[in-house]
This record gives sequence, structure tokens and C-alpha cells, in this order.
Amino acid sequence: MPGGLLTIDLGAIVANWRALDAKTADTVETGAVIKADAYGLGVRPVGRSLQKAGVTTFFVALADEGVALRQAIGPATRIFVFSGYMRGDENAFVEFDLTPLLNNADQITRFLIDRQGATCGLQLDSGMNRLGLEREELNSIMDKMPALDQVLVMSHLACADEFEHPQNAAQLVAFNEMAARLPACQRSLAATGGILLGADYHMNLTRPGIGLYGGDPFMDARPVVKLSLPIIQTRPVAVGESVGYGAAWIATCPSIIATVAGGYADGLIRAMGQDASLYAGDIRCPIVGRVSMDLITVDITDLAEIPTSLDILNTTQTVDVLAKTAGTIGYEILTSLGNRYKRVYKD
Ligand SMILES: *Cc1c(COP(=O)(O)O)cnc(C)c1O
Repeated sequence: MPGGLLTIDLGAIVANWRALDAKTADTVETGAVIKADAYGLGVRPVGRSLQKAGVTTFFVALADEGVALRQAIGPATRIFVFSGYMRGDENAFVEFDLTPLLNNADQITRFLIDRQGATCGLQLDSGMNRLGLEREELNSIMDKMPALDQVLVMSHLACADEFEHPQNAAQLVAFNEMAARLPACQRSLAATGGILLGADYHMNLTRPGIGLYGGDPFMDARPVVKLSLPIIQTRPVAVGESVGYGAAWIATCPSIIATVAGGYADGLIRAMGQDASLYAGDIRCPIVGRVSMDLITVDITDLAEIPTSLDILNTTQTVDVLAKTAGTIGYEILTSLGNRYKRVYKD
């Protein structure tokens, strides 16, 4: 029995990268964030397509992700690792030419002992309080800076998807003040949201992730994923009969129910419940009953013909629309997409 079919439009990812690149001046480099297996869409095909399109700087969260990316794209393209110089990863940085974004004094000290002269970047905390050197910590290790070949200084915005949020401007000021202590470094502050905040945030290098993959807050993004789930079985359900676990849905009129292959084990999280739908082309077919591990039940009473599959992600029900039904964000839907789908890549 085949499972779902996940179609990933690499051409749309490239188009989204170009569209984000076009939002900044020609002097600003547009990188690409492809952590978490390119937001669940596959680091090899996505990395190669973006490299071919002209990306020369990639970012990943973990050194292991950098290794997988390096194996896909070969030498010569920069790969920065957000988590920095973690213990146990030392060999990976050397062997696969990865560049750590050093986050604290301990990472800096260990990097200097192991790799004096090697290229690195620094991550500064400008107010998110998640990763990076705080102002005082930066002050306390300024004496080590001449020994480091730091090429990039970066920070991350906590509220960039809320364009009016006052923390954006506060972080901009804080970052620029700290980065001024390292005048030779390239600067990077903006992810997808930051690109949309305007030129002050663009600096030398941007780091879009979600916008490449078709998600908010880049509202003009081309949709990237389509997910079709095959219908395994259909059945008529009489008034008063229930469907699924907990008998949570009861037919109030004679209905035709389709059971499709796909469930919460495939990242179609249970919380989306009955607020989400599947689609037969443009026709909306509501989910009925609870989402199970491998199966979803759908009301297809209104369809004139029974199709072989129904779509749960398409240009109408995008990752963000589906996410809303589950009280989450498109990022989580994308990165949860399971590995039971057959994946087809379009150029
Ligand atoms: C994930 C991440 C990005 C990309 O963010 P998007 O919102 O997906 O564009 C950029 N920088 C850092 C530090 C990140 O963790």
C-alpha cells in the first residue's frame, strides 16, 4: 500500500530565494538556512538547487547537518553552524570544513586551543537570550579577539514576524553597538522576517529560512509543498453512526467517509483535528473524527466522483493554514513531515 505523495517544488524554493534576494541591495549577500534537513524537505536536493542558483553561504543548526550538506554540495561554499563549537564535533569541523558561530567564552577558548588561525564567526545576544555572547561577556574576552579569524558577527531577532514590535529596533541598536567592537567582520541580523523589516536590518548578509520554503511571514512566497494522501477505503455512514477513536464524530446526515493513508506519525498532528480539511482539486472535504497514527477519515459526501487521493497541503491549504488549525506555525508542520511519504522533487 503506498503512503502519501509529497511533491517538493525546488523551482519554487529557488524562486523564493531570488525574490528575497531582490528585496535587499546588490551589495547584500543572501544566504540560506537549511537546518533540520532543509526544514524537513531534504538537505541534499534543496542544498544543491540553492547552490546552483547562486547561494554561497549556508547555515545549519548542528555540525552533523553541516556534514550532510557538505557531502551534498562539495567544497567551496561556506557552511556556518549556529550551535557553534560543541564538544564531540571537533573533527567534523576540520574534516568537512564547517565554520562555527561561537556562542560563549568556553567555545571561544576551546576553538582557539584546537584551531588557532581557522575561520570562525561569532554569535551575539542582542536581546533574545537564547544563543550568543552577551555584552559583558564580549567585553571580558575582547583580549582574545585578535587571535581569532572571525569573519562574521551575527545575532537573531526574537520578534521579526511582528513588524511593529519595539524589540526589533531595540535589538538592531544593541547588535550594532556590539558589532562595532569587531569592525572587520561582516554583519548579519536578518532571517526571513528581518529581510521584510527593511534595509537597516540587511547589513552584509541575510539568513532566510522559512521564506524559502513557502511560509509566513514572507506572504509573497510561492508554495513549495503539495501532499496527497491515497484513499484506502470509502464507506457510507448512516445517521447516528460514529467515525474513529472515541466515537468523536457522529453523522447527522447520510455521509460517505473516505479513509486516507496518513496520520500523526506522518506529522499530520492530532491537534489539527476537525478544523482541517482535505481537498479533491478545489473541493474542500472536512476531516471527521480524530486523526489516528496512520489514518485520517474525511467526509467526501459532496464529491461527484471518488478520487484516488485527497490533498492535505496545496496552494489553498498551505503549511500556515494547516498549522493554524492545530494552533501551531508552518515551521512545525514542515519540519514534522514524516519519512513515510514518497517524495518527488520538481525543478
Ligand atoms: C532558523 C534561523 C534562521 C532562519 O529563520 P527563518 O525565520 O526561518 O527565516 C536564521 N537565523 C537563525 C539564528 C536561526 O536559528
